[in-house]
Amino acid sequence: MILPPATLGMLGGGQLGRFFVSAAHEMGYKVWVLDPDPHSPAGLIADRHLVAAYDDYVALDTLGSGCAAVTTEFENVPADTLDYLTKFIPVHPAASAVAVCQNRIAEKSFLADNGLPHGPFAAIRSEDDIRNANAGLFPAVLKVARFGYDGKGQARVADRDEAVAAFQHFKGEPCVLEKMLTLDYEVSVVLARDEAGNVRCFPTGENRHRNGILDVTIAPAQASACLRDNAQEIAERIAEKLGYVGTLGVEFFVCRGELFVNEMAPRPHNSGHHTIDACDVSQYEQQVRALCGLPLATPRQHSAAVMVNLLGELWYEDGKGHGAYREPDWSLLHAVPGLRLHLYGKHHARPGRKMGHFVVTGDDAAAVLERALAARAAIGIRDE
Ligand code: ADP
Ligand code: MG
Repeated sequence: MILPPATLGMLGGGQLGRFFVSAAHEMGYKVWVLDPDPHSPAGLIADRHLVAAYDDYVALDTLGSGCAAVTTEFENVPADTLDYLTKFIPVHPAASAVAVCQNRIAEKSFLADNGLPHGPFAAIRSEDDIRNANAGLFPAVLKVARFGYDGKGQARVADRDEAVAAFQHFKGEPCVLEKMLTLDYEVSVVLARDEAGNVRCFPTGENRHRNGILDVTIAPAQASACLRDNAQEIAERIAEKLGYVGTLGVEFFVCRGELFVNEMAPRPHNSGHHTIDACDVSQYEQQVRALCGLPLATPRQHSAAVMVNLLGELWYEDGKGHGAYREPDWSLLHAVPGLRLHLYGKHHARPGRKMGHFVVTGDDAAAVLERALAARAAIGIRDE
């Protein structure tokens, strides 16, 4: 067991890393963050911020010799970096598990090979693969296999010709072509798994997206108990098959009442932010526990919760990314009972950039949802 005041390493300095740093600090650990951005949200509050690229081996030597164990908050950390660090210290999750989650072709193949439910897809490495793809896949979404996030690197395509044009636009990068599914709604499961194979799930949450980016999470999901349990079981199987150690997020589509795995995130998940406010243990504390070999807590959600993401466009006069740059009027949110605001300290707001979020908690799920949606409108988030 790694106990305080040990120093933990974090690859990636985004908001997920920042919440990990806070959780680790609460528990008495020190944290060193490696992120190339000198203003990274986690780097700003870390005990030490190594401002370096993920493949800077001098910085990795420093991290490896100064920390007791290392984890990640950024799924695009090169697998070689994780492998290299295992020479010094325990690295969780392992490079092999991260590698599956960071490549959509590997991810979909993993689901198919393990009999896990997923939507129809084809791996696309050439224009010929598009020509040979099953006609039943169209209309479809073409997604680059690597480095896509928040709906980036994706194109909706009606037919083969559009798919070829999109593939060329992505410069022939390997892609997956997914059938466009009609979604009833989306859910996700965040879980933690330790080295002995114990798994603890947080309650299944319901996710609403806007322009391909998570907008609202309702926790627990409004779905039936049966569907929520089923999602947890599938997520547990994924964690086992990956030999996963740490906090994992699994996204699902629900189509005609059936679950399909969309994708996995080898790190805490945006849809698990509310665990800080609504559960007796957060997804970030579980990440610390799994990394350090502490017994995992059994999460208990004590309040209904709704999380709303705050994106960069809110910092602009028209709420869409145009006009004068100004700070949103936070007093509007602080006036709402049961609302907690979390801002990430990012230097500059760009449209679509995740700048912060708020969580409303309470006893009554319907009232919490109503209050959260009213606060969302009050701060200026509009549905087009
Ligand atoms: P990201 O890495 O950006 O989260 P996702 O693959 O999860 O990428 O896609 C983002 C969102 O786009 C999904 O949560 C869903 O709302 C929508 N989407 C993605 N793929 C499909 C699909 N095959 N059918 C219908 N909607 C989709
Ligand atoms: Mg996603």
